[in-house]
Amino acid sequence: MYNESDLLYEKSKRYMPGGVNSPVRAFYAVHRNPVFIDHAEGSKIYDVDGNEYIDYVCSWGPGILGHCRKEVIEAVQGTCSKGLTFGAPTKNEYILAELVQEFMPSMEMLRLVNSGTEAVMSAIRAARGFTGRDKIVKFRGCYHGHSDGLLVKAGSGALTQSVPDSLGVPEDYTKHTLVAEYNDTTSVEKLFGEYGKEIAAIIVEPVAANMGVVLPKERFLQGLRRIADQYHALLIFDEVITGFRLAPGGAQEYFGVKPDLTTLGKIIGGGMPMAAYGGRRDIMEVVAPLGGVYQAGTLSGNPVATTAGIETLKLLKQEPGLYSQIEAGTKKIADTIREAFGDKICVNQIGSLMSAFFINEQVVDYKSAVRSDTEAYAAYFNYMLGQGIYLAPSQFEAMFISYAHSEEDIRRTCRAITQYAADMK
Ligand SMILES: *Cc1c(COP(=O)(O)O)cnc(C)c1O
Repeated sequence: MYNESDLLYEKSKRYMPGGVNSPVRAFYAVHRNPVFIDHAEGSKIYDVDGNEYIDYVCSWGPGILGHCRKEVIEAVQGTCSKGLTFGAPTKNEYILAELVQEFMPSMEMLRLVNSGTEAVMSAIRAARGFTGRDKIVKFRGCYHGHSDGLLVKAGSGALTQSVPDSLGVPEDYTKHTLVAEYNDTTSVEKLFGEYGKEIAAIIVEPVAANMGVVLPKERFLQGLRRIADQYHALLIFDEVITGFRLAPGGAQEYFGVKPDLTTLGKIIGGGMPMAAYGGRRDIMEVVAPLGGVYQAGTLSGNPVATTAGIETLKLLKQEPGLYSQIEAGTKKIADTIREAFGDKICVNQIGSLMSAFFINEQVVDYKSAVRSDTEAYAAYFNYMLGQGIYLAPSQFEAMFISYAHSEEDIRRTCRAITQYAADMK
């Protein structure tokens, strides 16, 4: 018996690789067909077969207010009626830039782009242009979009030999990417000891959220700041996930560590394709047309996307209880999982970011994250989906909660978790 989602999936597979426009949507890791979404409202998404789910993916992060927040939708509709794109400056771009700086004072200047991938790629170009150096340090398990030089985890054994993670990326393009271990400042110091004068920047997810959620150890981020300063390299925080989520001012506010450059995405677009990079004025002044680092975009700072971003940020400012509410909901779920599964699961949680790893040890870096039992996660995912609860279809993605999630949503989710754990015993 085929349902509508399965039929659409069969048709989509004829025209798109895996039937999708971003790989994880295909549900390969949880061994079932994806559900096709028709519409959403608040904390819920509805598939084309009429099933309702409590949504804990929230479009992978942008949906911090929940779906279809009236103010955002109405503002977007208003902007649309004035024209979709002009390729010329608009007032919105300045308003958004000013708002971002209010949230994150380190963003003295910024440039709007269309995706997180583009933001990181461009920030690194700016860092290289500013320092006149070629190498960058990234961390194993941190994701910074799919640009060539960043699709690197690590070389086998040797920290300093970076081999591409993807076919189609020449090794020449990744030879300047040095890979360190998350939460291990010694691994960073080693790289700087060897290549210090050639390293333009360290780039890090201040809370790693793309190998599942992994928290930075005490003083880890401060350590990176210190090493960067010592070698006159730049520190780039990739806050595409943590920006406007961990705190209004992102991880840099939460941990009190100031990066030189920051990349933003996801929430900044309020559900539209938009991202940004920015930071110290003297660095950003190397970007064209002021300076010699070229970077451009036909649809960058698009009026519709900036409208969604502005309205979202304004609401984040107006809702003082938002951050404590989404954190409380996340904590309740984290505590329920800990209680239900005991030491079978490692729960990492900070603010409204959370992952439950099916593993009987602490997850502190890539090595420990990948030892998780992904088949156990797949079984858990499938059970929860059957209960009308839509979790990330992979062990290595964060769980996202929005301001629209009600206490009843959280209670229902906790009941399903407790039931599943009891059935497993
Ligand atoms: C999602 C993500 C990106 C890439 O953003 P896209 O908009 O998907 O290109 C970059 N960095 C981090 C930390 C992300 O989570």
